[in-house]
Amino acid sequence: MSWNNIVGHEHQLRVLKTALGADRLAHAYLFAGPEGSGKETVAFELAKILNCRNSRDLPGEGSCGVCESCRQADRLMHPNVEYLFPIEAALLEPSDPSKKENKKVTEVKERYEALIEEKLRNPFFTPAMERSMGILTEQVLILQQKAALAPRDGGKKVFIISQAERLHPTAANKLLKLLEEPPAHVVFVLVSSRPESVLPTIRSRCQTLSFARPKPAEIEAWIARRAPQLDEAERRFIVSLSRGNLASALELLEAETGDGAAPAVVGIRNKAIDYLRNILVPAKFHEAIGTCEELPKNLSRTEQLIFLDALLLFFQDVTRRAIDPAFPELNNPDIAENTNRFVKAFPNRDLYQASTAIEEAMRTINRNASVILVMAGLTAELRGILQKR
Ligand SMILES: [Zn+2]
Repeated sequence: MSWNNIVGHEHQLRVLKTALGADRLAHAYLFAGPEGSGKETVAFELAKILNCRNSRDLPGEGSCGVCESCRQADRLMHPNVEYLFPIEAALLEPSDPSKKENKKVTEVKERYEALIEEKLRNPFFTPAMERSMGILTEQVLILQQKAALAPRDGGKKVFIISQAERLHPTAANKLLKLLEEPPAHVVFVLVSSRPESVLPTIRSRCQTLSFARPKPAEIEAWIARRAPQLDEAERRFIVSLSRGNLASALELLEAETGDGAAPAVVGIRNKAIDYLRNILVPAKFHEAIGTCEELPKNLSRTEQLIFLDALLLFFQDVTRRAIDPAFPELNNPDIAENTNRFVKAFPNRDLYQASTAIEEAMRTINRNASVILVMAGLTAELRGILQKR
């Protein structure tokens, strides 16, 4: 059942299903793979299965998703499931109403709660407190105490350690002790997008399972299940924009299917294509300049970056169609006609140079520069590159 909610990772799921079926699960795993590949959702599914009241009746299918245990796990409140990520030390200080630093502790707690909220909303999100020194020794000491206690309700304890490469050295050594003599009722799942930075002694105690980014077709099928109201063009464009990162894909999907208050992702893409057209038609160039001024007023920073990214994806389509006029897997299948027309009208334009200019503009906007100035500079530069005779 719930294995079906995982996006991609067929091979990795098979390894885990086989181990579960034969009751030969390792004591400790290292789930290694790029950010946003969804490896942590596999860790949570494993934790759910090991505690689900119905999973024994659903061999090979995963957790039931509806029993009390599954629902607790979904809310990150299961007594057998521990989830560690980098936090600030102040979070672990005992709060004392008579003390002055109480306000600071409250603020730290709020920041922590906000990350948990975000994780509940977006299971592909990787939480970490900004001022954290990493996963702290105190966090692992708490884990040690919890490991000593028997699990509730006949399940298994599952300790999921997100961003394991950020274990503080002392914390890593404490964890190593636990891994060397693991209690039989505990399964450790360390998760890392930089497994080479995980302490080798820890790595050697874990069975490594390597994850890749899900394939575009897998992400598209997931979007189709989740938001059947979207058409192929919308699905395909979200897949392209996400570049295989499921956390981004979910953000974009929510923007696209949201309440309509914010411009949807494909709507922003259409604006970007109009802007490009205005750069290319001398009589309309002033409209392109107008777009530069509107952009910071009408779009958030994230949306401004989507606007520019849409241009990159369009140029990628143009380049593909220039090489192969029948290229099938376009980022923007719904505007293939425009793409083909662009190829014909501007056969020798330096799209590499144009893309480099756009990427530089994105970096500059990310550094909080004035969007109007960056966009005005980019517009002039794109005109120079694209209108060259
Ligand atoms: Zn269940």
